[in-house]
Amino acid sequence: MSVRDHRLVFFGPPGAGKGTQARRLTSRFGFAHISTGVILRKIIRADTPLGQEAAGYINDGNLVPDRIVRILAEDAMLDANFSGFILDGYPRTLQQAEWLQEFLQSQRTSLTTVVNFVLSDEDVVSRLSQRRIHRLTGENFHLSNKPPPPEEAEFMITRPDDQPETIKHRLKTYYRDTHPLVEYYRSRDLLRPIDASGAFTTVYSQICEVLQLS
Ligand code: AMP
Repeated sequence: MSVRDHRLVFFGPPGAGKGTQARRLTSRFGFAHISTGVILRKIIRADTPLGQEAAGYINDGNLVPDRIVRILAEDAMLDANFSGFILDGYPRTLQQAEWLQEFLQSQRTSLTTVVNFVLSDEDVVSRLSQRRIHRLTGENFHLSNKPPPPEEAEFMITRPDDQPETIKHRLKTYYRDTHPLVEYYRSRDLLRPIDASGAFTTVYSQICEVLQLS
């Protein structure tokens, strides 16, 4: 199976490593990496009207309205010619999942696999509270597992939505709005669980095995 034959969703709680793994697979195999979180942060920085509307939701740890993320995700899939893409953090609601299915169907195509990153709540909280981002490159660090180089310390920022209270709220939102998609995709026989608690390379190998990438 070639990369172009994959139409993937990376699914799981915040902090499960979806973005980190998707970036690596993208640089190794040439996937189109579609992260609605990254696109949202970009349009917020660019101060576009949609970005202005989205900012408050993100900083409070709430989901951005479906109609906004739908536009962003569909545009990006169009750019990717509907093939060889990883949707990272989309869909996050049942409504988004249904729109996604209709959208792909209208292009006579469909998802191939939903990789479910399974991680305990304790690990989610620990990962998010220790996450730091490089202000210029956007690279992710983790204070214990992947500490930032000391000379780069001044560039490290904590995402506003990685503050402790906001993390708890995001997790609650995840269980209420997003977790039901596990059943949605399991019943369509698309769901492939992986243990996201291990080291980066262990998780990476599991994904490659599930997707038969080498
Ligand atoms: P992420 O970088 O994937 O953790 O996303 C950061 C934030 O962007 C989330 O906490 C949401 O506020 C927002 N966001 C990203 N993707 C979606 C989505 N599919 N639906 C709604 N909100 C989203």
